Amino acid sequence: MNKLFVVSAPSGTGKTTLNNRLASEFSNIEISVSQTTRKPREGDVNGVSYHFVTVDVFQCMIDSGEMLEWADVFGNFYGTSHKEIQRIMDKKHDVLLEIDVQGCMSILRRKPQTITIFILPPSIETLWHRLEQRGTDPLNVRWRRFLEAKHEIDAGHVYEHFIVNDNVDRAYGELKSIIIDGKHSTHSHQEGLDICRKLMNEYQTSPLLQDLKNKFGEDLGPVHG
Ligand code: ADP
Ligand code: 5GP
Repeated sequence: MNKLFVVSAPSGTGKTTLNNRLASEFSNIEISVSQTTRKPREGDVNGVSYHFVTVDVFQCMIDSGEMLEWADVFGNFYGTSHKEIQRIMDKKHDVLLEIDVQGCMSILRRKPQTITIFILPPSIETLWHRLEQRGTDPLNVRWRRFLEAKHEIDAGHVYEHFIVNDNVDRAYGELKSIIIDGKHSTHSHQEGLDICRKLMNEYQTSPLLQDLKNKFGEDLGPVHG
Protein backbone atom coordinates (compact mmCIF):
# COMPACT_ATOMS: atom_id res chain seq x y z
CA MET A 1 0.00 0.00 0.00
CA ASN A 2 1.48 3.37 -0.98
CA LYS A 3 2.08 5.87 1.78
CA LEU A 4 1.24 9.54 1.60
CA PHE A 5 3.46 12.11 3.30
CA VAL A 6 2.94 15.85 3.69
CA VAL A 7 6.09 17.87 4.32
CA SER A 8 5.47 21.56 5.04
CA ALA A 9 7.67 24.40 6.21
CA PRO A 10 7.67 28.18 6.26
CA SER A 11 9.12 29.38 2.96
CA GLY A 12 12.94 29.42 3.11
CA THR A 13 13.27 26.80 5.86
CA GLY A 14 14.82 24.18 3.57
CA LYS A 15 12.08 21.69 2.73
CA THR A 16 12.92 21.59 -1.00
CA THR A 17 16.59 20.94 -0.18
CA LEU A 18 15.70 18.07 2.17
CA ASN A 19 12.91 16.55 0.07
CA ASN A 20 14.96 16.57 -3.14
CA ARG A 21 17.79 14.79 -1.36
CA LEU A 22 15.37 12.14 -0.13
CA ALA A 23 13.76 11.63 -3.53
CA SER A 24 17.13 11.32 -5.21
CA GLU A 25 18.37 8.78 -2.67
CA PHE A 26 15.19 6.67 -2.60
CA SER A 27 13.63 5.91 -5.96
CA ASN A 28 10.41 4.63 -4.34
CA ILE A 29 9.63 8.14 -2.99
CA GLU A 30 8.28 10.63 -5.47
CA ILE A 31 7.53 14.32 -4.94
CA SER A 32 4.14 15.28 -6.31
CA VAL A 33 4.36 18.05 -8.92
CA SER A 34 1.76 20.70 -8.09
CA GLN A 35 -0.11 23.08 -10.36
CA THR A 36 0.57 26.76 -9.70
CA THR A 37 -0.31 30.18 -11.08
CA ARG A 38 2.97 31.58 -9.67
CA LYS A 39 5.41 32.81 -12.30
CA PRO A 40 8.44 30.52 -12.80
CA ARG A 41 11.59 31.59 -10.96
CA GLU A 42 15.02 31.32 -12.47
CA GLY A 43 15.86 27.62 -12.49
CA ASP A 44 12.22 26.46 -12.36
CA VAL A 45 11.40 23.87 -15.02
CA ASN A 46 7.80 23.47 -16.13
CA GLY A 47 6.55 19.98 -15.32
CA VAL A 48 9.43 19.39 -12.86
CA SER A 49 9.24 22.15 -10.22
CA TYR A 50 5.56 22.77 -10.95
CA HIS A 51 3.06 22.71 -13.75
CA PHE A 52 2.86 26.47 -14.38
CA VAL A 53 -0.66 27.39 -15.49
CA THR A 54 -2.82 30.49 -15.92
CA VAL A 55 -5.49 31.48 -13.39
CA ASP A 56 -8.16 30.46 -15.97
CA VAL A 57 -6.71 26.98 -16.38
CA PHE A 58 -6.36 26.58 -12.60
CA GLN A 59 -9.98 27.71 -12.08
CA CYS A 60 -11.18 25.19 -14.70
CA MET A 61 -9.34 22.42 -12.86
CA ILE A 62 -11.06 23.38 -9.59
CA ASP A 63 -14.47 23.60 -11.28
CA SER A 64 -14.12 20.23 -12.95
CA GLY A 65 -13.13 18.53 -9.67
CA GLU A 66 -9.59 17.71 -10.80
CA MET A 67 -7.94 19.03 -7.62
CA LEU A 68 -7.43 16.87 -4.54
CA GLU A 69 -6.60 20.08 -2.67
CA TRP A 70 -5.70 23.67 -3.50
CA ALA A 71 -4.98 26.92 -1.68
CA ASP A 72 -4.17 30.57 -2.19
CA VAL A 73 -0.60 30.95 -0.92
CA PHE A 74 1.16 34.34 -1.03
CA GLY A 75 -1.42 35.60 -3.55
CA ASN A 76 -1.02 32.72 -6.02
CA PHE A 77 -2.93 29.46 -6.43
CA TYR A 78 -1.22 26.15 -5.74
CA GLY A 79 -2.85 22.73 -5.91
CA THR A 80 -2.41 18.97 -6.12
CA SER A 81 -4.35 17.14 -8.84
CA HIS A 82 -5.91 13.69 -8.38
CA LYS A 83 -4.19 12.72 -11.62
CA GLU A 84 -0.71 13.48 -10.23
CA ILE A 85 -1.27 11.34 -7.13
CA GLN A 86 -2.64 8.52 -9.29
CA ARG A 87 0.39 8.75 -11.61
CA ILE A 88 2.74 8.17 -8.66
CA MET A 89 0.57 5.50 -7.03
CA ASP A 90 0.37 3.57 -10.31
CA LYS A 91 4.14 3.17 -10.08
CA LYS A 92 3.68 1.81 -6.53
CA HIS A 93 5.77 4.69 -5.19
CA ASP A 94 5.16 6.58 -1.96
CA VAL A 95 3.96 10.16 -2.46
CA LEU A 96 5.54 13.20 -0.88
CA LEU A 97 3.42 16.36 -0.94
CA GLU A 98 5.32 19.64 -0.49
CA ILE A 99 2.32 21.76 0.36
CA ASP A 100 1.30 24.48 2.80
CA VAL A 101 -0.64 24.12 6.02
CA GLN A 102 -4.04 24.79 4.36
CA GLY A 103 -3.30 21.97 1.93
CA CYS A 104 -2.21 19.73 4.80
CA MET A 105 -5.53 20.29 6.57
CA SER A 106 -7.51 19.50 3.39
CA ILE A 107 -5.51 16.31 2.85
CA LEU A 108 -6.01 15.19 6.46
CA ARG A 109 -9.79 15.63 6.08
CA ARG A 110 -9.80 13.38 3.01
CA LYS A 111 -6.97 11.02 3.92
CA PRO A 112 -6.56 10.95 7.72
CA GLN A 113 -3.86 8.26 7.59
CA THR A 114 -1.45 10.75 5.92
CA ILE A 115 1.88 11.18 7.75
CA THR A 116 2.51 14.88 8.33
CA ILE A 117 5.88 16.53 8.97
CA PHE A 118 6.56 20.17 9.80
CA ILE A 119 10.09 21.48 9.23
CA LEU A 120 11.03 24.53 11.24
CA PRO A 121 13.94 26.99 11.11
CA PRO A 122 16.18 27.19 14.20
CA SER A 123 15.21 30.87 14.57
CA ILE A 124 13.22 33.43 12.62
CA GLU A 125 16.41 35.42 12.00
CA THR A 126 17.87 32.34 10.30
CA LEU A 127 14.70 32.07 8.22
CA TRP A 128 15.13 35.63 6.98
CA HIS A 129 18.79 35.03 6.14
CA ARG A 130 17.96 31.82 4.22
CA LEU A 131 15.34 33.64 2.15
CA GLU A 132 17.99 36.26 1.38
CA GLN A 133 20.69 33.70 0.68
CA ARG A 134 18.47 31.72 -1.71
CA GLY A 135 18.34 34.88 -3.79
CA THR A 136 15.32 33.81 -5.85
CA ASP A 137 12.75 36.38 -4.73
CA PRO A 138 12.67 40.17 -4.78
CA LEU A 139 12.64 41.95 -1.45
CA ASN A 140 8.86 42.57 -1.30
CA VAL A 141 8.15 38.88 -1.99
CA ARG A 142 10.68 37.75 0.66
CA TRP A 143 9.16 40.10 3.18
CA ARG A 144 5.67 38.82 2.49
CA ARG A 145 6.78 35.18 2.81
CA PHE A 146 8.61 36.01 6.00
CA LEU A 147 5.59 37.67 7.61
CA GLU A 148 3.22 34.92 6.52
CA ALA A 149 5.52 32.30 8.03
CA LYS A 150 4.17 33.46 11.38
CA HIS A 151 0.67 32.20 10.50
CA GLU A 152 2.06 28.90 9.29
CA ILE A 153 4.04 28.39 12.49
CA ASP A 154 0.91 29.28 14.48
CA ALA A 155 -0.87 26.38 12.74
CA GLY A 156 1.90 23.90 13.63
CA HIS A 157 -0.38 21.88 15.92
CA VAL A 158 -1.84 20.24 12.78
CA TYR A 159 1.35 18.22 12.23
CA GLU A 160 2.43 14.95 13.79
CA HIS A 161 6.23 15.21 13.41
CA PHE A 162 8.52 18.22 13.90
CA ILE A 163 12.06 18.65 12.55
CA VAL A 164 14.27 21.67 13.20
CA ASN A 165 16.48 22.29 10.16
CA ASP A 166 19.50 23.65 12.00
CA ASN A 167 21.98 21.49 10.11
CA VAL A 168 21.14 19.93 6.73
CA ASP A 169 22.73 16.53 7.39
CA ARG A 170 21.17 16.19 10.82
CA ALA A 171 17.71 17.31 9.63
CA TYR A 172 17.98 15.01 6.62
CA GLY A 173 18.79 12.09 8.93
CA GLU A 174 15.60 12.82 10.86
CA LEU A 175 13.47 13.12 7.75
CA LYS A 176 14.84 9.79 6.56
CA SER A 177 14.16 8.07 9.87
CA ILE A 178 10.50 9.22 9.78
CA ILE A 179 9.81 8.50 6.10
CA ILE A 180 11.99 5.48 5.46
CA ASP A 181 12.23 3.82 8.89
CA GLY A 182 8.74 4.80 10.11
CA LYS A 183 10.09 6.30 13.36
CA HIS A 184 8.69 9.25 15.28
CA SER A 185 10.49 12.59 15.10
CA THR A 186 13.05 13.15 17.85
CA HIS A 187 10.79 15.90 19.17
CA SER A 188 7.48 14.86 20.70
CA HIS A 189 4.33 16.66 19.60
CA GLN A 190 4.45 18.79 22.74
CA GLU A 191 8.10 19.72 22.14
CA GLY A 192 7.21 20.64 18.56
CA LEU A 193 4.49 22.96 19.80
CA ASP A 194 6.93 24.53 22.28
CA ILE A 195 9.37 25.21 19.42
CA CYS A 196 6.54 26.82 17.41
CA ARG A 197 5.71 28.99 20.43
CA LYS A 198 9.35 30.03 20.82
CA LEU A 199 9.49 31.06 17.15
CA MET A 200 6.19 32.99 17.44
CA ASN A 201 7.65 34.78 20.42
CA GLU A 202 10.72 35.76 18.38
CA TYR A 203 8.41 37.64 16.02
CA GLN A 204 7.66 39.97 18.94
CA THR A 205 11.13 40.21 20.41
CA SER A 206 13.67 39.97 17.60
CA PRO A 207 15.62 43.21 17.08
CA LEU A 208 16.15 42.21 13.44
CA LEU A 209 12.40 41.97 12.92
CA GLN A 210 11.80 45.36 14.52
CA ASP A 211 14.35 46.80 12.19
CA LEU A 212 12.74 45.16 9.13
CA LYS A 213 9.25 46.27 10.23
CA ASN A 214 10.48 49.85 10.53
CA LYS A 215 11.93 49.61 7.03
CA PHE A 216 9.15 47.81 5.18
CA GLY A 217 6.04 48.06 7.37
CA GLU A 218 3.62 45.23 8.00
CA ASP A 219 1.24 45.94 5.13
CA LEU A 220 1.67 43.04 2.74
CA GLY A 221 -0.06 44.78 -0.16
CA PRO A 222 -1.08 43.09 -3.40
CA VAL A 223 2.28 41.44 -3.95
CA HIS A 224 2.32 38.37 -6.19
CA GLY A 225 5.45 36.29 -6.14
P1 ADP B 1 12.06 26.01 1.10
O1 ADP B 1 11.85 24.95 0.04
O2 ADP B 1 11.61 25.55 2.45
O3 ADP B 1 11.46 27.32 0.72
P2 ADP B 1 14.89 25.84 0.31
O4 ADP B 1 15.12 24.36 0.30
O5 ADP B 1 14.75 26.53 -1.01
O6 ADP B 1 13.64 26.23 1.24
O7 ADP B 1 16.09 26.48 1.16
C1 ADP B 1 16.20 27.89 1.33
C2 ADP B 1 17.70 28.25 1.37
O8 ADP B 1 18.27 27.78 2.59
C3 ADP B 1 18.50 27.63 0.22
O9 ADP B 1 19.47 28.59 -0.19
C4 ADP B 1 19.16 26.41 0.88
O10 ADP B 1 20.37 26.06 0.26
C5 ADP B 1 19.40 26.92 2.30
N1 ADP B 1 19.39 25.89 3.36
C6 ADP B 1 18.54 24.84 3.49
N2 ADP B 1 18.80 24.15 4.63
C7 ADP B 1 19.83 24.79 5.24
C8 ADP B 1 20.57 24.57 6.45
N3 ADP B 1 20.29 23.56 7.29
N4 ADP B 1 21.56 25.42 6.74
C9 ADP B 1 21.86 26.47 5.93
N5 ADP B 1 21.21 26.73 4.77
C10 ADP B 1 20.21 25.90 4.43
P1 5GP C 1 7.04 28.26 -3.64
O1 5GP C 1 6.42 29.40 -4.39
O2 5GP C 1 8.14 28.72 -2.72
O3 5GP C 1 7.47 27.14 -4.55
O4 5GP C 1 5.93 27.65 -2.70
C1 5GP C 1 5.20 28.48 -1.85
C2 5GP C 1 4.32 27.68 -0.91
O5 5GP C 1 3.32 26.98 -1.63
C3 5GP C 1 5.06 26.64 -0.08
O6 5GP C 1 4.62 26.78 1.28
C4 5GP C 1 4.56 25.34 -0.64
O7 5GP C 1 4.54 24.31 0.32
C5 5GP C 1 3.16 25.69 -1.08
N1 5GP C 1 2.66 24.78 -2.10
C6 5GP C 1 3.33 24.29 -3.17
N2 5GP C 1 2.55 23.44 -3.87
C7 5GP C 1 1.37 23.39 -3.20
C8 5GP C 1 0.15 22.67 -3.44
O8 5GP C 1 -0.01 21.91 -4.39
N3 5GP C 1 -0.86 22.88 -2.56
C9 5GP C 1 -0.74 23.73 -1.49
N4 5GP C 1 -1.78 23.84 -0.67
N5 5GP C 1 0.39 24.42 -1.24
C10 5GP C 1 1.43 24.24 -2.10
